[in-house]
Amino acid sequence: MDSNYEAVIGLEVHAQLSTKTKIFCGCSTEFGELPNSNICPVCLGHPGVLPVLNRNVVEYTVLMGLATNCRINAGSIFARKNYFYPDLPKGYQISQFDKPVCEFGFVEVEAGNKMKKKIHIKRIHMEEDAGKSIHDQGEATLIDLNRTGVPLMEIVSEPDISSAQEAYQYMHKLHQLVTYLGICDGNMEQGSLRCDANISVRKKGCMELGTRTEVKNMNSFRNVERAINYEIERQIDILEDGGQIVQETLLWNIDQGKAVPMRGKEEAHDYRYFPDPDLMPVIVGDDWKDEIRISMPELPDKKKQRFIDEYNLSLYDAEVLTSNKGIADYFEEVVKITDQFKVASNWVMGDVSAYLNESKISINEFPVAPMDLGKLITLIHKNVISGKIAKEVFADMLVNGKNPELIIKEKNLVQITDTSEIEKIVESVLDKNSSQVEQYLSGKEKVFGFFIGQIMRETKGKANPKIVNEILKEKLNQRK
Ligand code: ADP
Ligand code: MG
Ligand code: ZN
Repeated sequence: MDSNYEAVIGLEVHAQLSTKTKIFCGCSTEFGELPNSNICPVCLGHPGVLPVLNRNVVEYTVLMGLATNCRINAGSIFARKNYFYPDLPKGYQISQFDKPVCEFGFVEVEAGNKMKKKIHIKRIHMEEDAGKSIHDQGEATLIDLNRTGVPLMEIVSEPDISSAQEAYQYMHKLHQLVTYLGICDGNMEQGSLRCDANISVRKKGCMELGTRTEVKNMNSFRNVERAINYEIERQIDILEDGGQIVQETLLWNIDQGKAVPMRGKEEAHDYRYFPDPDLMPVIVGDDWKDEIRISMPELPDKKKQRFIDEYNLSLYDAEVLTSNKGIADYFEEVVKITDQFKVASNWVMGDVSAYLNESKISINEFPVAPMDLGKLITLIHKNVISGKIAKEVFADMLVNGKNPELIIKEKNLVQITDTSEIEKIVESVLDKNSSQVEQYLSGKEKVFGFFIGQIMRETKGKANPKIVNEILKEKLNQRK
């Protein structure tokens, strides 16, 4: 970025709440069902129907408000946001406008050189999702209304974010919070967590905000970062060429890696918000608020500290393990089986994470049960197998999901710890390689590794390395 400029970014993040039923009716929120199967007259906006608010939606949103240091408004109002769209049968979306349920919060993100930066949250409100228009199946557009009325929480930040990297951090933080709270599955590809970015630039030192554009349709952390960087550069180029930024809505085109105009300010909607006469104000009194606060699960920072205290892990390990709730849960299942905490941490951060990255799956889909990894670690610790053989066993576990004991038995991989057996093998290796023995005794210590290799070959890697080392040294000394 041109160092004369700074970027100003505010994000509007929609999180789909993982309630069983929709926000204003009893229809299921299940994803991927047959089109138009989870619908009722309320979803369809038939005349005369009445919405009934789902209590869980309020509870989930208040949880998020508490977790992000918001003020919880005792009274909040649902409003009608009027616009026409084919997948919005009522002709309006029920949302919250001037009286949202949560306001004035913040989260902290890393802002480089270990500094924390507060990103303020303007508001968090509840609303319903619209249906889905399907344009790519033949001549006509198809409408699936299963998604109408699925509960959303919208989190609107203040324009406190100053780079794509910070936006990424902020999104990551929100993702972490909603998944820890268990209020959203965090699945960005399925659209459970989506983000619109408002972006402007200004000359450094300038107090006034520049004209902003809004980029929509970013469905991964990577795309959020890329789209913001793209838009910052585009705006700076225009200003440098003496042009002006036009306030407009852009759509991020993933394939082209470009933001393309969707609508300009003159086409902007006038939503004519007004309070929905069919819904009562939402009253969150102190009792209810306390009840929700008490139900709050352990949040990332607390878990991180507990991992350090309880499992004696380094700050780094604790941070990596708790950055994803699923990974943290997996680790805790492993250490129910073994007390080798650091070893368990290494396996989860190393082999397990590597496999997840390579096969692009989440920990929920990981083929090795945490209990089996715990058992594998115990087998190493008890010297039944060596660490090297364990890697081989683990590779098998990934493929067939079998438990490690079974694999070790079937493949006869139990470590040789019987010293007299190892002594025999060492002697025979030394006998067979008398010239190397001479070299060693004349001071060429490197040959030691050669012997180890030979012994491991004889035993197919099953000899206990520590015992082999000791015996080999002893036997070589005897030949001096
Ligand atoms: P609107 O009512 O048009 O949606 P809001 O005031 O609610 O506008 O702001 C929407 C988002 O845009 C917020 O996240 C806010 O922080 C951000 N925003 C507002 N002005 C700017 C600006 N000049 N540059 C970047 N972001 C902005
Ligand atoms: Mg807005
Ligand atoms: Zn319904």
